[in-house]
Amino acid sequence: MKKITIGLASCGLAAGAGRIKEVINKEVQDKKLQINIHETGCIGMCYNEPLVEVFTDSGNWLYGNVTEETAKEIIKHHSEEDSPIKEWLVKTEKIKTKDDTFFIKQLKIASRNCGIIDSTNIDDYIAKDGYKSLDKVLKMTPEDVIDEVKRSAIRGRGGGGFPTGIKWESAVKAAVKKNENPILVCNADEGDPGAFMDRNLLESDPHTILEGMIIGAYAINSSEGYIYIRKEYPLALERISTAIQQAKKKGFLGINILNSGFDFEIKIHRGAGAFVCGESTALMASMTGKVGEPKAKYIHNVESGFKGKPTVLNNVETWANIPVIIEKGADWFAKIGSGDVSENPWNGSSGTKVFSLVGKIKRTGLIEVPMGITLREIVYDIGGGIPKDRKFKAIQTGGPSGGCLPESLLDLTVDFDSLTKAGSMMGSGGMIVMDEKTCMVDVAKYFIHFLKGESCGKCTPCREGLISLDKILDRITKGDGKPDDIELMEDICETMKIASLCELGKSAPNPVLSTIKYFRDEYEAHIRDKKCPAGVCKELITYSINEKCTGCTICAKKCPVDAISGKLKEMHFIDPNICIKCGICYEVCKFDAITVE
Ligand code: SF4
Ligand code: SF4
Ligand code: SF4
Repeated sequence: MKKITIGLASCGLAAGAGRIKEVINKEVQDKKLQINIHETGCIGMCYNEPLVEVFTDSGNWLYGNVTEETAKEIIKHHSEEDSPIKEWLVKTEKIKTKDDTFFIKQLKIASRNCGIIDSTNIDDYIAKDGYKSLDKVLKMTPEDVIDEVKRSAIRGRGGGGFPTGIKWESAVKAAVKKNENPILVCNADEGDPGAFMDRNLLESDPHTILEGMIIGAYAINSSEGYIYIRKEYPLALERISTAIQQAKKKGFLGINILNSGFDFEIKIHRGAGAFVCGESTALMASMTGKVGEPKAKYIHNVESGFKGKPTVLNNVETWANIPVIIEKGADWFAKIGSGDVSENPWNGSSGTKVFSLVGKIKRTGLIEVPMGITLREIVYDIGGGIPKDRKFKAIQTGGPSGGCLPESLLDLTVDFDSLTKAGSMMGSGGMIVMDEKTCMVDVAKYFIHFLKGESCGKCTPCREGLISLDKILDRITKGDGKPDDIELMEDICETMKIASLCELGKSAPNPVLSTIKYFRDEYEAHIRDKKCPAGVCKELITYSINEKCTGCTICAKKCPVDAISGKLKEMHFIDPNICIKCGICYEVCKFDAITVE
């Protein structure tokens, strides 16, 4: 045994990896083993955390769902013989594991080092050719760097999909015209429920983000950079702050970078966690200490952004791609993905996209896939399909303002344009899978309620539109829906799309419009028949026990309000006057004996 690594990003720590590290440290000390114990970030298999990788002469062995007991066993086994414990393995190049397909269709560019290097150690990043692209760039002209990024056709990973090279070029032109130095900002204000792409990149490989920013700064001739990060990400904040200090010490950041005469400083600005501050003008208002409210974009940020200066704003994932584009070349990057982008970046989607894959899916985690992959490949080949052999119902892409796409669109390719055409959007990379037990009206209600709380309230269509949609969806799920509610919501949504001031309000109707478009029958069942087909909306369902009941008594023991009665090995009954419709009996019954109607 040569080395052991333990995944200590937020997902690993939440699963107990901190304790596993203590156990491993103690075992190694007690056994007097000469082994390096390394920390690393998240390799993406969040469903298998805590993850421990053992490096031996015969190979690298990644173990998942490690407990205190299995950790001790792993150390004991590998210290005595150089062979793995096959049944606990989740990844190795040597033999097949049950989780191999999780990685097969992935292509890691932005997240290439995540779960591999120690993100708190700059030397680990350097050993993986880190900061080589910066060195290369400093020998190029800024114009050539912008040209390389333009030819890669990379489009912003924050959601808008604007071509990055064109954005940089526009900022340079505006700066020359105004005789001002442009400002560079990294948007790390990730606020989508269930999304953690940026958090993972910041925690697991902060130097790649810094290197991308420094390259960008050189290209646009900026000396002033900022990272806008929400304070709910304490570990990400800690790791990027450490990375900045390390990069400065090594001469990659600060004054006279690598003796090139180029100066660039990065400061961190902590946001308070408002979803709307992901919007560029709101973010910049927040950075100046004002309320994070969007403003009309009569003038683009590249002309007048932060402090009124030409400003380039790209998100974490976009910056993380830049060093690899420089290292491997624009042609290499542009060939990955969908569409022919050789003439025009708007003609396709080059490169890869990082998604957080969550919801009713066997393998939840962080994935990076080439643009152009299908939703089916993501759900079944990478995600492993739906748990409990339930049927797939929908997938929501694009965060709370994204749309819900049905089973008939599983073969849709994942890229900026296909998703938008289908009524959803790429967004920053949230991807939520829903199964047959998901009520689509309830899903629309959840997202509209979230957006209502996050709308800044500045403009009437968004503020009042979301309040009205929330009220209508609430009454539909309670059985009080009116016959013309669907049409009423469509009208409100159309107005919001046209008249809202910023993208939050313009895209907020997506969850409603997409669920009406693809799941209209569910709305009609709620409104006309006062039924929730998925058995979710409490006011519209009743629980009862059917003849499949074996009298095992488990449901009666688990019911929190003692609504279930019956003798052992005899059919049980639910008292509808006591039942609070919590659904626990449905979840625990192994005999399919609970009916939800
Ligand atoms: S659309 Fe919504 S979030 Fe945007 S400015 Fe108007 S009220 Fe605020
Ligand atoms: S858990 Fe199922 S089988 Fe057991 S008593 Fe309840 S309904 Fe009957
Ligand atoms: S739904 Fe909940 S409250 Fe009702 S009978 Fe089942 S376990 Fe009890």
